[in-house]
Parts: sequence; structure tokens; C-alpha cells
Amino acid sequence: MEIDSNFLLLEDGLHQVTKLSCTKNSVKFGPGLPDTIVIHYTAGSSAASSAHYLCRDDVKASAHIVIGRNGEIYQLVPFDTIAWHAGVSAYGGRTLLNQYAIGIELDNAGVLTKVGNEFQAWFGTKYPANEAVYATHRNETKPRYWQAYTDRQIEVCHDVCEALIKKFSINNIVGHEEIAPGRKQDPGPAFPLDSFRESLLFKNESDTPNIVNAKGEVSANLLNIRSGAGVNFDKIAKPLAAGTKVKVLEERDGWYRITTTIEGWVSKSHVTIKTK
Ligand SMILES: [Zn+2]
Repeated sequence: MEIDSNFLLLEDGLHQVTKLSCTKNSVKFGPGLPDTIVIHYTAGSSAASSAHYLCRDDVKASAHIVIGRNGEIYQLVPFDTIAWHAGVSAYGGRTLLNQYAIGIELDNAGVLTKVGNEFQAWFGTKYPANEAVYATHRNETKPRYWQAYTDRQIEVCHDVCEALIKKFSINNIVGHEEIAPGRKQDPGPAFPLDSFRESLLFKNESDTPNIVNAKGEVSANLLNIRSGAGVNFDKIAKPLAAGTKVKVLEERDGWYRITTTIEGWVSKSHVTIKTK
């Protein structure tokens, strides 16, 4: 996937890109920017309707990219131009992230409510059980139902991010939920945000041999411990405090299976290995 003159190339044989003319955004990024990608869900019913909605002159929101459930891509705003997707936000000592960040919207209904054997979105559409993920949001304590993303959608989002990383000095990929916690829940626990950004930004680390039977120490302030290697898995205990001594038993997809007073999975980026 290639970027030319701040647009994804329309035809590369592998991706379907539709360019929309969204003229309300005209302010350019400053020098050295964008350096961040913000991942969102649309909470809408289709990629086409969300893309056209975000382009409307009377709508005070927009994004650079909308990705549909079959991997179809809409580009609304050129990559050198600030779009309106982050809103009131803060991250890493910065506020109002729009001025730093590319916004990617994924077509996804968001939170679902169980109705009989089906799962209903806020706009009324019902989805079958195989499209619902029961998982705990990183900013919440109890699990809820969320619409699953499609594999193709995540793959295409990965391809778009890869192209952006090649073109710009991108050093952060964050969820809207991380820059506006409490106010925003997207992309939510159905999106594998931690492993996604790790595979894009810390590629070389996965080339190193897997760590097994090593001693380590928790380096994050409060590290979630889960029943499996991914944020979709339930938290199985209170978060581990910084300095907690752990034994790493296994490594998979950027996660360690560790044992301390309890055994479970933690994101490997928050564990410092002490000895082998
Ligand atoms: Zn959002």
C-alpha cells in the first residue's frame, strides 16, 4: 500500500480505495507532523454512510480514513491536513490531539445489548452471536458486549498504518479511548490495540527469541493480568503493582504468561526481564 501526494493510491490490486471530497478541513499539520495515529470505531451502520456523514459540511467531525467490514477504504482528508476526530483529548503531555494525529475510523457498531439470542446496536440493528464479543474495556471493570471487527478490516487497518509509518515519523498508535478516557470507548476491547501497535511500532522486538522460564519484574504502575494473550480476555485478578516479581513461563503475540501469586497473561511491554 502506497501514499502519493497525501492520498492512498487508489489502485494497488489488493485494496479498494474510494476518495471522497471532504473540503471542510483545510488547516495543514505543522512541521514533523503527523506523528500519531488514533484508532476509532464509527458506532454506525455502514462504512459508506459513516464516510459520507463525516464529509458533510454541517457535521463538526471528520477523519482521514474509514475502513469497512470487507476492508473497503474511504479517504476523506489528505494526510497533510488536520481532521476532526479526537475532540477534547490528552496524551503524553499533549492536549487536543487532532493537530498531531491521523484519524482512522473502523466501521463497527460499538456496544451491543443482548436481546434474546441476538445483539442489538444503539441504532436498532441486530447482529448474530458470532458478531458479539463479551469483553471488559480497558477503562471499565465489568465485561459488556461489543461488535467484533472482521479479520480483513484489522488487516487493512494494519496495511494503512504501515503505509503511514513509511511516509511519516509515526511513533504512537493510540485508541480514542486512551486519549479521551471516560468520554470515549472506541475502538473498545474487540480491537486488539496492544498487539496491533506492538507489531507496527516495535517490530524488531518480535525477531528476538522468545523468553521462557525467565525472572521478571512488573514495570507498569498497574498491570492487568488476563486469562489469555490479548485484551479481549477477561481480567482475572486485581492489576499487579510495579515491582511485583514474576516468572515468565511463555511468550505469545507480545504477551507473557507469568506466574506470581496467580498465573495469567500480561502485556510483555510492561515486564522487565531480570535474568534468563
Ligand atoms: Zn472516536
